Amino acid sequence: MKTVLITGANRGIGFEIARQLLKKDFQVFISGRDEMKLSEALNQLKKEYSSVEMILMDVSSSESVKTAAKILANRNIQFDVIINNAAILHRNDYSLIVQNNEVLKTTIDTNCYGPMRVIHAFLSLMKTPGKIINLSSEGGSMSEAVGGWAPAYCVSKTMLNSLTRQMAHELVEKNVSVNAVCPGWVRTNMGGKTAPRSIEHGAETPVWLADEASHELTGKFFRDKVEIKW
Ligand code: NDP
Repeated sequence: MKTVLITGANRGIGFEIARQLLKKDFQVFISGRDEMKLSEALNQLKKEYSSVEMILMDVSSSESVKTAAKILANRNIQFDVIINNAAILHRNDYSLIVQNNEVLKTTIDTNCYGPMRVIHAFLSLMKTPGKIINLSSEGGSMSEAVGGWAPAYCVSKTMLNSLTRQMAHELVEKNVSVNAVCPGWVRTNMGGKTAPRSIEHGAETPVWLADEASHELTGKFFRDKVEIKW
């Protein structure tokens, strides 16, 4: 049985990735920063699947991430796959010039340093070959036109894309692949009600990367199971 850790999995795409991987017989650890919300998500998944557990982890806190890793290390849990899904998009993220610097700082702290913290703390808990999957966005693309929305969020995803490539390069020798995924514009709290994609559709590519995709694929950016330009 393959084991996966998913950050920010109490709702949205992270929760759906958990559900789809449970269906594929993975042992799933859902994580999140809010104990009550996480427990509710766990209870919902437990109605259908038994191989699911929760671990409290706020990716914006090094302390919290290290504590979670220590708890799982003490239980000798090892992961085949780590999915960095947790992210934020500030409501007042509309202009890098006008808005407060805090918006950029906190967005980068969760969306880019968050995955960094998780990789640092959990790398020694990874099996080989292992897979790290970073939920990114085409909003962070350097080859597409600038969309004019949520600039701090887009900067954070550009950083995450670069982090993905650099980490992939460094981790080749450890036999751990690192890839980024754009799930498309998805109907979640973040994507909003008018987004064209269902949550099920948004979760498909990260689930494919976690399960069927070859370990040889690394340092790449995917959407709809197809490699796209950075
Ligand atoms: P949601 O806003 O619906 O869910 C985000 C999840 O991340 C929540 O569970 C939230 O927890 C969690 N989270 C936020 N901050 C932290 C933190 N510091 N520590 C732990 N968990 C945290 O987003 P989506 O499901 O839509 O997005 C999932 C991923 O897909 C994100 O990386 C996003 O950037 C990416 N994406 C989404 C798109 C879309 O259209 N929806 C488009 C492109 C990319 P809490 O409930 O506590 O807030």
